[in-house]
Amino acid sequence: MRKVMNKMNMKWMILALLAVTMTAVAQQSASAPQNPQPVAATQPEQTAAQPSQTQPGQANLAPPTTMDQVIDRVIMQEKELIKFLSPRTPIVETYLQNLAQDPQLGPIPQDDHYFLGRMDLSESIDRSDFLKNKDEGMERHLLGGFAKKFKFQYQPLGFSWMIFVDRTDFDRQHYTFHYVRREFLGDVRCLVFDLTPKKDAGHGRFLGRIWVEDQTFNIVRLNGTYEHPTHNNYYFHMDSWRLNLVPGYWVPSYIYSEEGDFTAGAKNKIAFKAQTRMWGYNLKTATPNDELTNIRVDSVKDSTPTAQDATPLAAEREWQQQAEDNVVERLERAGLLAPAGDVDKILQTVVNNLEITNNIDLPRPVRTRVLTTSPLETFSVGNTIVVSRGLIDVLPDEGSLAMVLSHELAHIVLGHNLGSQYAFNDRMLFSDEVTYQNLGFKHIPEEEAAADKKAIEMLKASPYAQKLDSAGLFIKALQARAPQLSALLQAHLGNNITENGMVTRMAALATSAPALDWNKLDQIAALPLGARVKLNPWDDKVEIVKAQPVAITSARDKMPFEVTPFYPRLTRYGAASAPASSTAAALPTAATTADASSAPTN
Ligand SMILES: [Zn+2]
Repeated sequence: MRKVMNKMNMKWMILALLAVTMTAVAQQSASAPQNPQPVAATQPEQTAAQPSQTQPGQANLAPPTTMDQVIDRVIMQEKELIKFLSPRTPIVETYLQNLAQDPQLGPIPQDDHYFLGRMDLSESIDRSDFLKNKDEGMERHLLGGFAKKFKFQYQPLGFSWMIFVDRTDFDRQHYTFHYVRREFLGDVRCLVFDLTPKKDAGHGRFLGRIWVEDQTFNIVRLNGTYEHPTHNNYYFHMDSWRLNLVPGYWVPSYIYSEEGDFTAGAKNKIAFKAQTRMWGYNLKTATPNDELTNIRVDSVKDSTPTAQDATPLAAEREWQQQAEDNVVERLERAGLLAPAGDVDKILQTVVNNLEITNNIDLPRPVRTRVLTTSPLETFSVGNTIVVSRGLIDVLPDEGSLAMVLSHELAHIVLGHNLGSQYAFNDRMLFSDEVTYQNLGFKHIPEEEAAADKKAIEMLKASPYAQKLDSAGLFIKALQARAPQLSALLQAHLGNNITENGMVTRMAALATSAPALDWNKLDQIAALPLGARVKLNPWDDKVEIVKAQPVAITSARDKMPFEVTPFYPRLTRYGAASAPASSTAAALPTAATTADASSAPTN
């Protein structure tokens, strides 16, 4: 712990508020057994047909029969997890919104911060950032406004820290365990314990509640804070979730943090909300020796019936294809691009609709891919259109998705090719952390304007012509929030969609849209982050969120572009996922649903 704590003292931070908030959770099974009966029969490692699915330390263990034995098992499993993750360097992204109280809308974003890095879980918890240069000030950054009263410092490492209960001293010598009850989180039955550090356990000990699944006794959720801040060392409250993405292990996936108090008479009107996401656990770039990732270009296949020499134009196209393939593969390896999947099919459908109705016939098909990050951005390289997860999240309907895609399609149609320099393989040789310094796909302003013009032409000739009101409303909502969301709107690979707090991308659509009215409950101009896309932290695959729409009852429920708590539906590895009942349109257009309510086709 000492080594870690030194680092923490130097690098970590923030905010004292030690009263532990226990999130009230719907209690489905509250019997308090002295002898919990694990459902051992269904444990995967005991199925003869699956010898490879070994569960750590479990193979020869009898189910615990006393609560003390359960606690021993919990401690053992946590240590197994720390060991299992130690060679891995997942990506960690934290997006934070500082809040200000709006009399009508409640707490709304006042400004924001974005961190993206890779965690090194080998010896302690450390990280290296993708955004060093751009956000250099973060290391010692004081937040404007609050700085006078509080030395308020956001250290990205502080958020990453909250993935384990206690990296070094999670044991009975340092903690008292108090069994609370049984409770379901999603499909998973859990034992709930309150944890308090023992007297003299030292600084930075976890104080709060843990949920432990009752088959293998892995911690699946922790909620609380760390105790005993020193004068320059404070801890956030956090709610940290794990997912069972590999047999036997529950992998840290989401952390929600929140501080603040807007009650009348509260002294400190400071507040923030932050989401931390982890992914890329299975990226193959874990060792330092592997830092320079070599890219192999698939040999260009000759699809012509008889071997022919390439014309200069054909050679040019092959060249662009090669650059495109290089970039797509490199971004995927860095964990910044999701593997091709179902979300792409949705985007592809929209692109096809635009192409068909505009008689666009390109020599190579347009592909679409999803950037795994939150900032709202798009770009294209060759014939591949890339849209960020965060941007898809906040789009209210298919019409606004068409608007986003039409701009990039217009670049392709107009031949605004970028990135042919990446056909040279040496340009792919860089470490992941400097991806943003080595790749970039920004168009000159003239091309941006031309693409917008062409895109609007295409939209008007497409099935989306009748749905441009919602696209325009989205632009208006974005405009209303843009000055406060500069970090969310900072593109890292493509063009910004705003300049100096003004929306520039497709801004013309706003002029014909209805007036933006937060109080009109059936007008959903933009969704909260996380509303659409689910990213698998293990393999980086993305899928559309399957959620029942929740009725909006007040203007405060809209939360456009905002950060909310996580509440993943927990399931065990290999268990059938929630029934995919809905097969409606990819992105529902019903204005009364704030949540994606439908799945693609499966
Ligand atoms: Zn553009």
